Amino acid sequence: MAFYIQKYGGTSVGSTERIKNVARRVAKFHAKGHQLVIVVSAMSGRTNRLISLAKEVQDNPDPRELDVMLSTGEQISIALLSMALIELNVKARSYTGSQVRILTDSTHSKARILEVDENKIRADLDAGYVVVVAGFQGVDAAGNITTLGRGGSDTTGVALAAALKADECQIYTDVDGIYTTDPRIVPEARRLETITFEEMLEMASLGSKILQLRSVEFAGKYKVKLRVLSSFEEDGNGTLITYEENEKMEQAVISGIAFNRDEAKITVLGVPDHPGIAYQILGPIADANIDVDMIIQNVGHDGLTDFSFTVHRREYSNAMQILKDKIQGHIGARNIVGGDKITKVSIVGVGMRSHAGIASKMFRVLAEEGINIQMIATSEIKVSVVVDEKHMELAVRVLHKAFDLD
Ligand code: ASP
Ligand code: MG
Repeated sequence: MAFYIQKYGGTSVGSTERIKNVARRVAKFHAKGHQLVIVVSAMSGRTNRLISLAKEVQDNPDPRELDVMLSTGEQISIALLSMALIELNVKARSYTGSQVRILTDSTHSKARILEVDENKIRADLDAGYVVVVAGFQGVDAAGNITTLGRGGSDTTGVALAAALKADECQIYTDVDGIYTTDPRIVPEARRLETITFEEMLEMASLGSKILQLRSVEFAGKYKVKLRVLSSFEEDGNGTLITYEENEKMEQAVISGIAFNRDEAKITVLGVPDHPGIAYQILGPIADANIDVDMIIQNVGHDGLTDFSFTVHRREYSNAMQILKDKIQGHIGARNIVGGDKITKVSIVGVGMRSHAGIASKMFRVLAEEGINIQMIATSEIKVSVVVDEKHMELAVRVLHKAFDLD
């Protein structure tokens, strides 16, 4: 007998039929004697529809009220799933985030979990209930409803697993695990039996959308045993996230290739090369709450240098505007150019630490295909390049093959 937190995402609960299917799966686990806390997302598309509805009334919906509204998506799912379980003669009870008391800070739309009250859940589990908890939401100290950011139900699942010390947190989704890359781009992509926590963290931050980045960070902090599985298949081991490199069976140098189509690049040309320039450029960008990803500054020549960085595509025009209005004249930059027709392609693997020449192999493979690299960034376990978006698929395919992932 084990204690599992199982999280089912939006597509897994996308219709009442699918909710009944989830209930059947849960009932099977329950019949085996396992203790279960089930976390669910809103039915697929629901959160987006709620956002559009809010925007019909207010262009920029009031953050507190928007959270009140968005939390209803998950509230519908927990009630429906509990009904479906009761219909199967399984004792079940649902709770919203604030009923459990998933205490968060007060940052509406991206609140952080501070504390999870385990009392109600424990009492119900001891009384033989399956406990169904709304993902993506919490409550702040003053009693306001908060939400955890898009994809936040993953984080609810992991936080509950950490607080209740579950044996495993199982994230059920529409794919059967973490793949070497997106199988829609490379049909030869393989499911990984295991992936290290650090690799998963890189993959999530590089644009693989399977787990919310924050849920991976949370899992790492509390060493939660985390597994990604398909809710549409009867069995299968999915992918287990491990915390020890030697737990990893397949010792490939590169574990996966990630890509992100959501970025845009901006270059400030001919900036005076003196102390404080990076701060003068990026300060106002940060003040506008725009996240910056890659940053490159060239070696100066004749007292001038160029400065490039990438931002999320949806912030591109906003960032350009700020640079042109507030920064260009102020720092005396010659010009500001940019483009949003780019993709970031990254290779990720802890094996890079012990193998030389991985980056140069990546560059050679891309050069052989005539793919121009516009920017490069590296960390201990990843190499990222920015290429023209029209080269993205080719780049991912040739790299997948070159690093023996096919
Ligand atoms: N329903 C929320 C969203 O669509 C949270 C989640 O699904 O994890 O982002
Ligand atoms: Mg998700």
